[in-house]
Amino acid sequence: MNSSNERCMDNFIDWVESRNADEPEFIQAVRDLACDVYASYSERKAWQSAKVLERLSEPDRIISFRVCWEDDRGDIHVNRGWRVQHCGAIGPYKGGIRFHPSVNTSILKFLAFEQTFKSALTGLPIGGGKGGSDFDPRGRSDREIMRFCQAFMNELYRHIGENTDVPAGDINVGRREIGYLFGQYRRLANTFSGALTGKDIEFGGSHVRMEATGYGLIYFLRCMLARRDQDLETQRVAISGSGNVALHAAQKAIDLGARVITLSSSKGVLHHSEGIPGKEINRVIELRMDSTELLEKIRAAAGGDWHEGEKPWQFECDIALPCATQNELDGEDAKALAQNQCLIVAEGANMPCTETAIEIFKDRKILHAPGKASNAGGVALSGLEMAQNASFSRWEQQRLDEKLLEIMQDIHNQCVKHAGEHDGYVDYHRGANIAAFNRVASAVLAQGIG
Ligand code: NDP
Repeated sequence: MNSSNERCMDNFIDWVESRNADEPEFIQAVRDLACDVYASYSERKAWQSAKVLERLSEPDRIISFRVCWEDDRGDIHVNRGWRVQHCGAIGPYKGGIRFHPSVNTSILKFLAFEQTFKSALTGLPIGGGKGGSDFDPRGRSDREIMRFCQAFMNELYRHIGENTDVPAGDINVGRREIGYLFGQYRRLANTFSGALTGKDIEFGGSHVRMEATGYGLIYFLRCMLARRDQDLETQRVAISGSGNVALHAAQKAIDLGARVITLSSSKGVLHHSEGIPGKEINRVIELRMDSTELLEKIRAAAGGDWHEGEKPWQFECDIALPCATQNELDGEDAKALAQNQCLIVAEGANMPCTETAIEIFKDRKILHAPGKASNAGGVALSGLEMAQNASFSRWEQQRLDEKLLEIMQDIHNQCVKHAGEHDGYVDYHRGANIAAFNRVASAVLAQGIG
């Protein structure tokens, strides 16, 4: 990038920072994209004069609401709920709902922003959004979860719909919560439509949806390895988290011959140098329990060591898959991975690596797949669930798994094409940002100013 473009980009980042001063995660996500796309953006005068990047740095709308619900003792609680509808230029807003005490507008805006570009990479007609609440489901009874979901939907229902905005799950929102949310939507809207994805198979859900993010991550990883004439056989894989994404990634990696040496929770990490047995993952994958208890169950049956308060990145591994949450892997972790000769970091979570960590990966030539590419399998399957709902059909498991594989291969190839290869190193991060931005920017430009 020449110095005049660099100045323009700095001005753009200053502008984003000044408008979103208390939103560090959102600024981080915008900066991440802008650094990769700004050079080509500045060459496309039509994009620049229509201020496409500036427009994409402001969500279409943010809906904020009160969620009032009653616990089992009759006490009333007041939480906050949000839906960020970031960009609908390619299709209906699409993106998960997260229930976690850390949820705020910065986190939801970054997730919705990422989602727009991730959806674009799938090639399907879906846009980007995200929603959630600062509600903490930990320790809550099933009835309390149901009442909270219903209260959340009492407001959200008027903003979503199969052609408007189609939410799905995310942290602490799985099949059970989607069931409660969908039930309340159906009652209030008086219609049975595919307004949410991740539903149970009995009422419009899709085969492979639950597995899709984790399996898709491993399909993407397999493409990265194949370019180096390698496969997953005997690779040591460190995974963080032990939720939906982490466990399905572990299951598929083990199926393909890898050794999964860690899983973690917010309290610590389970390390198993021989590899966690696949049958233990299969045994716990459908259980609904606290992550730390789940890991203790695996340890009690299969051995391994529990490291309280630690993260997985200090252990020797060939491949690291951060699958828990944003900014969980920092510069020190990246240095430890580099020291241990880690070859590949592929993101299962959204933006799990800090900017410093990513710089270190590039510097040390560690291949790094960003979540918007490598975890896009979940939203891809959601898109396929929408297609099945719209056509009153249900597709077979094998067909969906093959389609997922095809989409992940295509995303991989788009990344390689747009990144190019320099001294044998593919900058997947840059490739994903450019490929995704090209599609979204073209759609925004074609639809006029608004
Ligand atoms: P789950 O709620 O199923 O699991 C989350 C896991 O991450 C739990 O093991 C949790 O442990 C751990 N975790 C959460 N916060 C922290 C933290 N601060 N530090 C360490 N560990 C933490 O969520 P998912 O598996 O669905 O989502 C995981 C990530 O993947 C998120 O970034 C999400 O946005 C992303 N993602 C999910 C998709 C999906 O289809 N579900 C699609 C694409 C991306 P504990 O319970 O102890 O907190």
